[in-house]
Amino acid sequence: MVGRKAAAVLVCSALLFGCSGNGGVGDPDPNADPPPDNYDIEFGGSGVVRWRTSDFPLLVYIPALPAEVVEPERTWITSNVTAAVDAWDSIIPDIADVADITTDQAQADLEIHWRPDFGTSPFGRVIWTFGGSTALMHGMELGYKKELHGIEANYADYYDNMSHELGHVLGIMGHSGVDTDLMCPGGNSFTRTLTGRDEEALRWLYRQSSFMRIETAPYNDPD
Ligand SMILES: [Zn+2]
Repeated sequence: MVGRKAAAVLVCSALLFGCSGNGGVGDPDPNADPPPDNYDIEFGGSGVVRWRTSDFPLLVYIPALPAEVVEPERTWITSNVTAAVDAWDSIIPDIADVADITTDQAQADLEIHWRPDFGTSPFGRVIWTFGGSTALMHGMELGYKKELHGIEANYADYYDNMSHELGHVLGIMGHSGVDTDLMCPGGNSFTRTLTGRDEEALRWLYRQSSFMRIETAPYNDPD
C-alpha cells in the first residue's frame, strides 16, 4: 500500500510484478456485514468507494492500439481486454450487466489509455483523485508491450490484468491476500481467477448504504 499523492492517487496493479494500491475514503456502514476475511485489511482502513447501481452498465471505450503494435499481438491484446469486460457481470445482486464495450468515446464511463509500459512495476492501473464526497476516476492505463521487464506476456495475461483492473474500477481499492484471487496483486502468481472471495468482496461493497460515490473525470496523464 502506498500513500496518497498530492493530486492524483494511483491504484495500480501488476500482473507479473509487485503492486501497490491505496485506500480511498468513506465510511463503511457499521451495521453491515463484514467484508470477506481475506479482504479485511484492504477495506478496514480504506472505507467504501463505489458506483451508484443506477450507473451500470459502465461503458468502456477501448481505443486502437498504437501503430507499433503489430499482428498478431494487436488482435489478441484487444480481444482479451474486450472479453475481460464481461468478467464481473452478474455478481452484484440484481445487476446482470456491469460493464459493456462502447465504440462511442463521448459516452464512455471508462476509457483505456495504452502505454508501452510503466517503467517500474505496474502492468495496469486506474487513476483516481478524491475530493469532497466523490471519488473521481480518470481512466485506466494498460501496458501493451508483450515483453515486460524481460518476461513475455501471453493472451491470458491481458485478460487477467484487465479483469483485475476492472475490480479496482468497481470500487475494490485494495487487494486480496489470497494469491489465487483475481484481486491478489499478482506477484509471481499466474493462477488468478475470479473467485467466490472476489465476488463476495464486490457484493459487500454494494451492500453498503454509506459510500463515497465514484464519478468519471477527464483523463490527466500522470506523466
Ligand atoms: Zn491491483
